[in-house]
Amino acid sequence: MLRGVLLSMSRSDRLKQVATDAPPARALVARFVAGETTADAVSATADLIGSGRLVTIDRLGEDTLDLAQARATRDAYLELLDALGEHGLTDGAEVSVKLSAVGQALPDDGEKVAHEYAAEICAKAASLGTTVTLDMEDHTTTDSTLGILRALRADFPGTGAVLQAYLRRTEADCRDLSYEGSRVRLCKGAYSEPESVAFTDRGDIDRAYVRCMKILMQGEGYPMLATHDPRLVEIGGALAVRSDRAPGSYEFQMLYGIRPEEQARLAAQGERMRVYVPYGDEWYGYLVRRLAERPANLALLARTLTSKG
Ligand SMILES: Cc1cc2nc3c(=O)[nH]c(=O)nc-3n(C[C@H](O)[C@H](O)[C@H](O)COP(=O)(O)OP(=O)(O)OC[C@H]3O[C@@H](n4cnc5c(N)ncnc54)[C@H](O)[C@@H]3O)c2cc1C
Repeated sequence: MLRGVLLSMSRSDRLKQVATDAPPARALVARFVAGETTADAVSATADLIGSGRLVTIDRLGEDTLDLAQARATRDAYLELLDALGEHGLTDGAEVSVKLSAVGQALPDDGEKVAHEYAAEICAKAASLGTTVTLDMEDHTTTDSTLGILRALRADFPGTGAVLQAYLRRTEADCRDLSYEGSRVRLCKGAYSEPESVAFTDRGDIDRAYVRCMKILMQGEGYPMLATHDPRLVEIGGALAVRSDRAPGSYEFQMLYGIRPEEQARLAAQGERMRVYVPYGDEWYGYLVRRLAERPANLALLARTLTSKG
């Protein structure tokens, strides 16, 4: 219920303005977001790679209904990839793209625009020896996103998918995407979804995550286990052993600023550990989703929104 209220705030323009105007919001944002500029993203990436972790970078922004905005997001990714190349970081860093940020929701030809812009980003990434993963958004976009993924993979087979364990359909999607070379990030899912399409009980979501993880780990693809949940990380490690997974044939992923000690511990153990690094000035929706994941974060949010300091 609380999570639902918080998630509904992620699309509130008025609350976004309040949060932007409150100076303490900057500190809160800095905990979860690497900065606003390409240089900030590159610098955070260099630090993480220096510490033995891998990175996927997300240019913040989503749900655009403006073609110029979609084009600007594409351009920002192209600039980012060039900068990663110039700094010699493309071995350890890739990018994550939300199709709704590159036009998927535009009326009439949104899917075509998103496909075209995502393909340009994939082409740039491929020319620099790295890859793109398509983030997954709310359930109304799943079919469209998987359709565009299939089309992109025809030219760029390394393009990664994201599947959300809370969706009832996801076990079947895991089976479909468990083929050789298929990079699949498995997460619990971050949107407010109806019972009709998603598990809403935390225990049910965790059990679904384990079922999906088994399918991916026993399949032919490259599983990317995106969770901070200690039990699921442990089960993931055990499944890797039980499925005879060679080191380097799967990876763990966590978000920037969340459980950094655990990230470092897994990397030090020799696991491939990738950190999702968001940057850019469109941080509001992302931030609210992170706060909604943890009841303790509510107090932090309330203090931030009511503080005049
Ligand atoms: C690399 C990566 C990419 C993702 N991409 C997508 C995507 O494309 N689409 C999508 O819908 N979702 C995405 N997510 C978000 C995901 O769906 C979950 O909402 C999020 O990861 C929280 O779930 P959890 O598995 O960590 O488990 P939870 O049960 O939420 O958390 C387990 C533990 O992790 C810690 N923790 C988790 N979240 C926080 C937080 N915000 N602040 C502080 N501590 C926290 C706490 O200790 C908590 O007890 C992604 C997550 C990761 C890690």
